[in-house]
Amino acid sequence: MGLAHLPTPLHLMANLSGHLGGPRIWVKRDALTGLGMGGNKLRKIDYALRDALHQGADCIVSGGAVQSNSARQVAAACAAANIPCHLVVFEGRVSTISEQYHTSGNALLAELFGATRHFRPWSPHPNAALEELAADLRASGFTPAILPYGVSNAMGAIGYASVVAEIAEQMDQAPAAIIFASGSGGTHAGIAMGCALALPNTQAIGFDIDADPERVRRDIITIMRQAGALLNHDFDTIQIDL
Ligand SMILES: *Cc1c(COP(=O)(O)O)cnc(C)c1O
Repeated sequence: MGLAHLPTPLHLMANLSGHLGGPRIWVKRDALTGLGMGGNKLRKIDYALRDALHQGADCIVSGGAVQSNSARQVAAACAAANIPCHLVVFEGRVSTISEQYHTSGNALLAELFGATRHFRPWSPHPNAALEELAADLRASGFTPAILPYGVSNAMGAIGYASVVAEIAEQMDQAPAAIIFASGSGGTHAGIAMGCALALPNTQAIGFDIDADPERVRRDIITIMRQAGALLNHDFDTIQIDL
């Protein structure tokens, strides 16, 4: 949908690379995607939201923890696209919270962007709560589309693969590896598929932030299968480094 400001800059960390005395380290500045304070989820939302609109959705359901970057970016994208946004806000995801946890930062921005927030206790199966909210909205006559937790679905991952095409254009030499945090799996799936297609000698290495690598691995495999079906391409041989 062109919601993200792309390409994002790629910066050489000269001092850090020198200090470590090892490989040259670059940072892909995917925080600088612009809309709604930016962030890496906008690449996914660009594709997943367009797909939802094509399918005739009249409102969007997504969600995340109280201070979710993903939910804040979904709220901003929905405001830009003029479609109502319902967010499941999971409470109790983190144990140490400050007084401002519920009223500042991403929580405040999601509210300012006009999202309707539905508070629920944290569950290890967050997408089930999104499905429940979507069922309630359908029962009230709406046609919701779900942008899952982390916007990690096949369309989102296909959107995220664009980051690899940009890196391939921005660097003279292919990097040995692209290293990133991995949570709901769409970022990993997108980078791994992008590398397979555009930077075949570059390793995609995710660091699981949920300390649940088997679950993350399963989700990445599922997302790559579904994306492969959409693209008519087999990603089954990709090795997942997590
Ligand atoms: C969401 C997020 C990730 C993890 O992406 P997933 O697709 O959820 O695995 C990594 N880095 C940043 C900055 C994020 O916001």
